Amino acid sequence: MSAARILDGKGLADRLRAELADEVVRWRSATGVMPGLGVILVGSEPASAVYVRNKRKAAQAAGFSDIIVEMKATATQDEIAEAIDQLNDDHTIHGILVQLPLPRHLDSESLLRRIRPDKDADGFHPVNMGLLALGTPSLVPCTPLGVRELLIREKIETKGKRAVVLGRSNIVGKPMALLLMAKGPGGDATVTVAHTASQDLPGLCREADILVVAAGQPELVKGSWIKPGAVVIDVGIHRRADGTLCGDVDFVEASQVASAITPVPGGVGPLTVAMLLRNTFEAAKKLVEPNR
Ligand code: NAD
Repeated sequence: MSAARILDGKGLADRLRAELADEVVRWRSATGVMPGLGVILVGSEPASAVYVRNKRKAAQAAGFSDIIVEMKATATQDEIAEAIDQLNDDHTIHGILVQLPLPRHLDSESLLRRIRPDKDADGFHPVNMGLLALGTPSLVPCTPLGVRELLIREKIETKGKRAVVLGRSNIVGKPMALLLMAKGPGGDATVTVAHTASQDLPGLCREADILVVAAGQPELVKGSWIKPGAVVIDVGIHRRADGTLCGDVDFVEASQVASAITPVPGGVGPLTVAMLLRNTFEAAKKLVEPNR
């Protein structure tokens, strides 16, 4: 029996996508424009192919057009740069993403920098990361944005709370910490970022009223690492040998101690795609009606 409230990310993502689809219908009839998502998929890694398929399905269901550019695993840096340039120049496309990870021979950083910042659907471009760091966010990385949306919609108070983010990656941990410390709803927290060089990880985690775990280590966080009554957000996703999924948190243990927790699957994952569509729509609105 779990004591914690289960934070239903899947249900919220469905509602957010339905809200967005309604908004898109109205916007399309007002402007005559369909929001467009462009995705570059390099190679045939099965997990990436599934992610891209899900993004396409979600985009189509929300009334977007989409272009998937599929490139061979052997594609060169220049060929991918050219594909990005084409999407950058395509006026039917408002949000662009390059599905990560890219094959090893490619320089991901420089390819992500090639995407126009105002079409940067994943929010990874240095301009968008910089705006987030300065407290004037524009396009924000989708996974942390989804976590903030969940915290707000579930009425989890962050203001003045101790938040600990476990993980310092550019796509999750770092932007998550920036959002939690930003002024306003879902922010105003006192934030600690823990990582591989941190000492006494369990002790640091136990300080958290809100613990966001994005370490990429299956079931790393145990029940004893959690302060009784804390809110636990598990970003991790892993497939066990038996085919079932788990997160970075030991859900069975943690749900006995936390007051609320996201499950895996059905927690943070579905929100990421909903936020990708939101970012693309926000980009479309700015590109099509810049003076709005
Ligand atoms: P990453 O590997 O890039 O970063 C992991 C971070 O955790 C690093 O900063 C590292 O310092 C820290 N870390 C790792 N092991 C640690 C340990 N033992 N002790 C302390 N710190 C440790 O991973 P990421 O891209 O940030 O993703 C994290 C997890 O979230 C992964 O499981 C990934 O699959 C998942 N993810 C899920 C979604 C989603 O939509 N649900 C999106 C992105 C990532």
